[in-house]
Amino acid sequence: MDQLFQSAQPAPQAIQADPAHPCPVCAAESRRLFCKHGYWIRGCQSCEHRFAELRPDPSHVATVYDDCYFQGGGAGYPNYLAEAALLRRQGRRYAKLLTRYMQPGRLLDVGAAAGLILQGFCDYGWDGEGLEPNPKMAEFACRELALNVRTGSLEGFSGSGYDLITMIQVVPHFFDLQQAFQVASAQTLPGGFWLIETWNRDSLTARLLSKNWHEYSPPSVLHWFSPSGLQELAAQHGCELVAQGRPAKWINAAHAKSLLRYKLRHLPLRRFWSLLLALIPDSLNLPYPAEDLVWMLFQKPAA
Ligand SMILES: [Zn+2]
Repeated sequence: MDQLFQSAQPAPQAIQADPAHPCPVCAAESRRLFCKHGYWIRGCQSCEHRFAELRPDPSHVATVYDDCYFQGGGAGYPNYLAEAALLRRQGRRYAKLLTRYMQPGRLLDVGAAAGLILQGFCDYGWDGEGLEPNPKMAEFACRELALNVRTGSLEGFSGSGYDLITMIQVVPHFFDLQQAFQVASAQTLPGGFWLIETWNRDSLTARLLSKNWHEYSPPSVLHWFSPSGLQELAAQHGCELVAQGRPAKWINAAHAKSLLRYKLRHLPLRRFWSLLLALIPDSLNLPYPAEDLVWMLFQKPAA
């Protein structure tokens, strides 16, 4: 499986700054707030949505979500597939949650990666398809899990109508937010749903950590939502909020350690922390304190 993941580190400089910066949610003016990893984070003067000062570019997806994102550690995953069981369980948890609101039907999982969360939905009777920018991940899902996962991004997708579109940890990565939501809306059948899980800019954790919040990691992350901002965006595309909550999330120790090493790399005593982290077995599953995550369920009105 290791041979699947060999490629060069992405070159973030390939993404250019845009000379004009209206808010991608409400189109109002925005201003620069602070700089992170060489990129400006802007804040909308009206709805307060935060976004990276980058020009929307379809090549962004291929550049940022290459194989390193899924196996290179840093802000991404040390080894995405090592968390297979946890991800499948996460899919099952959501599928179980959704039984309160709908019957299983046709599902499109956007940003499906290797199809593991999608597999969890299929366990609950969903007829699932996936969409994934990384070709090797999509290939893995098709070959190893016999799932229908296509290579591509939502902005350029054309499908045949779904009862549910899931966007789990995906919306902050859209290079063209309005286009992505327009396609999602067009692909949702009347009465259909969207399940969105994302980081919550309004959470206590995000507010306390301010610009040191771990999710401020452009260029892989381009948007920082609040639940109200996401609600406004969904409403613009004809979908209404049905329910929301905080996801129960588990990650394995290898992933947690990789994130911590990335965050601690500039601190003093780095070697000490590294040795301490090495004592924790990689295979251990840890509860993630997901105070800064939110899931939201939206519905398109029935025709
Ligand atoms: Zn705005």
